[in-house]
Amino acid sequence: MSIAASLSRLRDEIAAACAAAGRDPTAVTLVAVSKTHPAEAVREAHAAGIRHFAENRAQEFLAKAQILEDLDLSWHMVGSLQTNKVKLLLPRIALLHSLDRIELAQAVERHALEGFRLPALIQVNTTGEETKSGVAPAGVDALVDSLRRVRAIELRGLMTIGPLGGTEAENRRAFALLRTLRDRLASRHPDLSLGVLSMGMSDDFPEAIIEGATHLRVGSRVFGERDYGPQPSRGERLTLP
Ligand SMILES: *Cc1c(COP(=O)(O)O)cnc(C)c1O
Repeated sequence: MSIAASLSRLRDEIAAACAAAGRDPTAVTLVAVSKTHPAEAVREAHAAGIRHFAENRAQEFLAKAQILEDLDLSWHMVGSLQTNKVKLLLPRIALLHSLDRIELAQAVERHALEGFRLPALIQVNTTGEETKSGVAPAGVDALVDSLRRVRAIELRGLMTIGPLGGTEAENRRAFALLRTLRDRLASRHPDLSLGVLSMGMSDDFPEAIIEGATHLRVGSRVFGERDYGPQPSRGERLTLP
């Protein structure tokens, strides 16, 4: 199937899930995860109307962003980011989904120009799976408290990856937990605007929509399967050959 055809089908399914959940589809942003796919694939998705793309590796991110500089689009970072890569990436990231430690925020602060603030989400490990990055739910409050002292970070909400091979009920439980954590944070920090819930991927976006996702991160349902790794769709720290 072409990327345009995949997108058209995916958009219909997102619209149907929104309708079933009584949600306004314009409140849900589709972020196309283009990792491992060539810049040309991003061009195709862009031509089909997508404006938000995500990568999970610094090198690949930079290479694609450079090739596609002529396009009007926003880049999201969804992978674990080493502090020594921050400086290069900083000017290009529209939203960092994977903030999970204060050291990363401090690296942003060191490299940011005066007045610059990086929009960021805290990645939460809502399932307790050991292979996953993200802070434990019990650690979120403390991280937010320390992030409040880092001016270069503009905290916008939370992100999570659903359970590996989860049932619908398990997926919903993880996403509901993220929403509950966000709601609690919002009442503790009424001066912050924590509107973003980044959750839902190719296999579990309908459950994420029911639970209030504002940003879906969808890769294979847009670009086709990635050809590496035994569990390529879950977004853990994969190693390219
Ligand atoms: C790869 C990846 C996705 C997209 O995964 P699909 O299952 O292909 O939709 C979403 N989020 C993160 C963090 C990823 O690494």
